[in-house]
Amino acid sequence: MSATLDTPTLALVPSHEETMLREAVAGIAAGFGPAYIRDRVAAGEPPTELWDALAQHGYLGVNVPEDYEGGGRGMTELAAVGEELGRAGCPLLLLVVSPAIAGSVLARHGTPDQKDRWLRGIGRGDLRVAFAVTEPDAGTNTHNLQTVARRDNGGYVLRGTKTFISGVEDAHALLVVARTGENRQSGRGLLSLFIVDVDAAGLERQPVPTAPRNADQQWQLFFDDVAVDADRLIGVEHGGLAAVFDGLNPERIMTAALAIGAGRRALAQAADYARERTVWNAPIGTHQGISHPLAEAKIELELAALMMRKACALYDAGARGAGEASNMAKFAAADAAVHCVDRAIQTHGGNGLALEYGLADMWWGVRTMKIAPVSREMVLNYVAEHSLGLPRSY
Ligand SMILES: Cc1cc2nc3c(=O)[nH]c(=O)nc-3n(C[C@H](O)[C@H](O)[C@H](O)COP(=O)(O)OP(=O)(O)OC[C@H]3O[C@@H](n4cnc5c(N)ncnc54)[C@H](O)[C@@H]3O)c2cc1C
Repeated sequence: MSATLDTPTLALVPSHEETMLREAVAGIAAGFGPAYIRDRVAAGEPPTELWDALAQHGYLGVNVPEDYEGGGRGMTELAAVGEELGRAGCPLLLLVVSPAIAGSVLARHGTPDQKDRWLRGIGRGDLRVAFAVTEPDAGTNTHNLQTVARRDNGGYVLRGTKTFISGVEDAHALLVVARTGENRQSGRGLLSLFIVDVDAAGLERQPVPTAPRNADQQWQLFFDDVAVDADRLIGVEHGGLAAVFDGLNPERIMTAALAIGAGRRALAQAADYARERTVWNAPIGTHQGISHPLAEAKIELELAALMMRKACALYDAGARGAGEASNMAKFAAADAAVHCVDRAIQTHGGNGLALEYGLADMWWGVRTMKIAPVSREMVLNYVAEHSLGLPRSY
């Protein structure tokens, strides 16, 4: 990404506008919380009421340009929405995927028709787009993915398998990365990006049961000669990765936001418990064996939040360094959130594992963030190569 004339400004405290946004989202989320998510998971139903309540006030498309019915703001504001949902115990994975990834990609690479058709709905919050890149055999090596889109009848036909795709049950369409050719010298796939309806003929799905008790489920998708028109190609043919890259920094920022929200929730709950719970003569929070790990987790969390704020500021200004900061924010936030939840569980003793306290449910949610959407090892590879100029190991 090239530097712009705008000098990014890092606001160390939230602006009045951001504070109002956070309070408003927190107010709505308080009416839902973990009990609502547990109920939806048990019913096998998507979190429609929460999604609709947020959409009604324009909070889901806050980063989408105003011309397309969004809020015309940026990742700073969408991250604030994500963090508050995480803090309230009702995070939405589709918020990472739909407005952050698909919204950013369509805003930059969509044709006017594509924007009218899909970006408007994302801006309003009443249309959801999932994101399908991961494959069973390619894994982290996106260049090696095997889903093929071959030209046919003026359009394309997609064939292949995707896995771990979140939120398909509640999405209207999917952004799909597929191979449209191969670089003869490197053998790497030349990739393109398509938008495909979830109910397209030839597209089948089956659930991948996963440990996180999130409202959004994961799916394996089977593309059995799924025909799409040429106007479903986003950006240029073979330009898929370039388009996807524009969605990856928002994806990392949003993952950091959900992680930081979860970390804040766990720490607040742990501190409350440690102030109240007395088993000898003083509250357990008196013991440094309890208070120091919580304080350490708090420091880690605030450092991660600061890096997320930096990533948002750089991304929103279109400035150099957004990739590095987004990766670092995601890495730091996932680790910090895991430590916060783990130490909150320890603080609660046996109650840390009692479902009633909600911490055990949170554990798998934050643990996921060390693996998805990008693993901590791949972030370390990125920083080693791009920030430190070290040789690539793979
Ligand atoms: C809950 C959940 C939701 C998800 N949602 C989506 C979604 O919506 N859309 C989507 O497309 N995908 C989704 N994913 C998939 C996720 O992005 C991948 O699981 C993740 O990118 C890791 O890929 P993999 O599982 O294939 O691991 P692999 O690539 O098999 O890697 C396994 C391990 O080896 C490490 N490793 C691999 N290569 C290297 C290397 N060169 N150097 C060092 N270490 C390496 C990895 O870091 C990892 O720890 C989701 C996954 C989960 C669990």
